[in-house]
Amino acid sequence: MRLGAHVRMDSDPIGFGEKLGADVIQMFVVDPQSWDKPAPHPLAAEIKASPIDVVVHSSYQINVASLNNRLRMPSRNAVALQAQAAAELGAFGLVVHGGHVRKDEEMVEGILNWRKLFQRQEDKGGFAVPILIENTAGGNHAMARHFDDIGRLWDAVGDFGAGFCLDTCHAWAGGEELLGIVERIKAITGRIDLVHLNSSRDEFNSGADRHANLADGTIDPQLLVEVCKAVDGPIVLETPGDGVAEDLAYLREHVG
Ligand SMILES: [Zn+2]
Repeated sequence: MRLGAHVRMDSDPIGFGEKLGADVIQMFVVDPQSWDKPAPHPLAAEIKASPIDVVVHSSYQINVASLNNRLRMPSRNAVALQAQAAAELGAFGLVVHGGHVRKDEEMVEGILNWRKLFQRQEDKGGFAVPILIENTAGGNHAMARHFDDIGRLWDAVGDFGAGFCLDTCHAWAGGEELLGIVERIKAITGRIDLVHLNSSRDEFNSGADRHANLADGTIDPQLLVEVCKAVDGPIVLETPGDGVAEDLAYLREHVG
């Protein structure tokens, strides 16, 4: 099992990962609330050379599904730039949320926009690292909340080598049962490239995206252990910082 956590980009990501005993770390390459362009990381060489695996999470503003040009165009651009920055850190992928359309808009249009993202980039030689599409928790017009919608999305993007990131908090809060979830999603996507292993502050199908530590959340920790056992990809905790070391220790003990 390759296990780790999300770490801050603006300190010492590898040092922090080492302190946790992580095999894998996740980080941003820009302030996640901004449209900033990524700048070279001062510790890029060290991050790239480290035996700790790295994955990059893209910024939250990105919505490549959007029908609004003024949001979709910068989103496409940001995905390409952040994938390039991820490659410079030796990352194995860039996590991008599935995004959404508005409630008066057609889901199929958002799916087409995802397809166009890959199509257009293919003409430029593809993305610098694999794009890992993450399931999200909320909204009824989200591209990747309900697994039947993920099926339709995958029909459109699977050919381009899109990867998948399964977030357990988002699945739970989004109304997808965790029992047997690894098999269910793999039947749709054929792959799980990364797991975001989080408990939830909110109830099943609440639609809320609020992560919790494993001991404090509404998800039975045993269910989360079963997800870890069923998956063979890397696992990253995105739980509140104060409890991350304890969450890691719990998984090391119970997953083995
Ligand atoms: Zn996540």
